[in-house]
Amino acid sequence: MRTLSGIPVVDGVVIAEALVLEAEKYRLPGTQSFMADGQDPELSKKERARYREAVQAAKDEIAAQIVKRGPTHPASMILNFHQNMLEDEGGFHEHVDAYIESGRSAEHAVARRVNFYRRKFRESSYTARLVPDIDDLETTLLRHLIGEERETVGDLTVPVVVIARDLTPQQTLTLDLKMVLGFATDEGGKTSHTAILAQSLDLPAIVGLGRVTDIVTGGELVILDGRAGKVIIDPDEATLARYKERQKKFEAQKLGLEELKALPAETLDGHRLTLLANIAQPEEIEVAIKAGAEGIGLYRTEFLYSDENPDPSEEFHLKEYNRAIDLVGGRPLVIRTLDLGADKFVPAGISGENNPFLGCRSIRYCLMEREDVFLRQLRAILRASSSGDVRIMLPMISSLEELVRAKAMIEDAKRELRAEGIPYREDIPIGIMIEVPSAAIMADALAQHADFFSIGTNDLVQYVVAVDRTNQKVQELYEPAHPAVFRLLLTTIEAARRAKIPVSICGELSGDPMFTLPLIGLGLRDLSMAPSLIPRIKRFIRSITAIEAGRDMDQVLTHSSSTRNREYLGRRARDLDPEFFD
Ligand code: PEP
Ligand code: MG
Repeated sequence: MRTLSGIPVVDGVVIAEALVLEAEKYRLPGTQSFMADGQDPELSKKERARYREAVQAAKDEIAAQIVKRGPTHPASMILNFHQNMLEDEGGFHEHVDAYIESGRSAEHAVARRVNFYRRKFRESSYTARLVPDIDDLETTLLRHLIGEERETVGDLTVPVVVIARDLTPQQTLTLDLKMVLGFATDEGGKTSHTAILAQSLDLPAIVGLGRVTDIVTGGELVILDGRAGKVIIDPDEATLARYKERQKKFEAQKLGLEELKALPAETLDGHRLTLLANIAQPEEIEVAIKAGAEGIGLYRTEFLYSDENPDPSEEFHLKEYNRAIDLVGGRPLVIRTLDLGADKFVPAGISGENNPFLGCRSIRYCLMEREDVFLRQLRAILRASSSGDVRIMLPMISSLEELVRAKAMIEDAKRELRAEGIPYREDIPIGIMIEVPSAAIMADALAQHADFFSIGTNDLVQYVVAVDRTNQKVQELYEPAHPAVFRLLLTTIEAARRAKIPVSICGELSGDPMFTLPLIGLGLRDLSMAPSLIPRIKRFIRSITAIEAGRDMDQVLTHSSSTRNREYLGRRARDLDPEFFD
């Protein structure tokens, strides 16, 4: 049994077989082919024979490819490397045999030995270049072992926990959610977009584990503890039994939360809050409404972009927005304009930047690089506004000039639609995200030109403390409880109040109970979060008073250290709702 700790992203307990995405690309026949008592001479003989056959088939295939390409072809050099390994260089077969003898399937034994080489090769920059080659060799051998019956990630027959170095948001969206019960990655941060998608999909997840792919081979039984951020590999009996109990408790808690859905998000002293949902695709709206969302506070439209559809048409945008309007049923729908780039879909024109989070991302891409793409989206949003309570939200605004320019483009889009006789809502609200420190500092000036603010703490935190939100190495420094963050929240909220415009929050902070007290204490009444978090936050809100929250916030504003804030807020949240923090 081994336990690894990472960054918890989505709560939940999952017990299932591991599927390592990067190496396998298909599921290894796992624990079910382990021998019950770890040793069975007949079975291991059969497994060894299967392995030898696969090696022979791989050798024949490689030799044929070398003949086809000629020995000097660059691909043949790589194939030579494969050949040498298969000729038992470094005792490859001996180790595979030993694993088989210890009760593992041939597939598992191959993957494990390859994992050993992968780790070894990564130790030096000279040998690191061989990693893709050993990956290829593994793929070839596994293909021959598993044959045509292999299962791809999109069509699995048993439930799994996906283990990967990293997952892109796009990969996450293609997971077969009936069979993928959770995932764990080496890389990533709590607010990376993959983590955000996991929240949206309510898929238990842990990121930033550092080296889980070095340790898990695929096919092992793993426990994923999404609350503590732990992955337990090959658990012993006692641990397994303990986690089965936890799983039951977690399910019971979830059921308890169901009962809250119809009740208002109201503090004990009568302050009513509006809980809204963040979504990445219209399909999530139904789940969000069921969870108690009173509207959509953030629709991340960049997920309309994909490798298959890198440049969606106006009609495609409109179709999706109309679908969202139908599903949201008269409630508000805040459509955020494209936030392309950085760790989301990167259009061809802006790939390869040194610092994509500081580069031509989001509104900058729309204004500086592709006005046509922006205009197309604005036209679609405006057209959709004639049939629902649609609002426009501009991301990554960092200056008044940017806001003025974006608004001028909205006017251009309106003018075009007017000339074409296409209906839209003339007084559609235009709000901005406050997620860049310069915007928070200049919130009073921006408030004169915006109909509403929505605070995006995911980016605000990364830019305030200068920590890449996706970089696992520096995640400890990504600190939402930093006093500088609270000061900027205060500046923003006060500016909105003075200008009499609504202000809400849509960063991940809004779904973290540790921050509910200070957010309410700062005067926020509209919180937008991942749908799955709504019931939990509602429960928390219903157990506190706004007066207490105000006092807590006053206290926090006197602190000058994040550690102090964490201790204070963690203790307060635990005292108020102990059941959810054990
Ligand atoms: C944010 O930055 O807080 C936010 C909500 O936007 P995103 O996570 O999509 O960058
Ligand atoms: Mg953002």
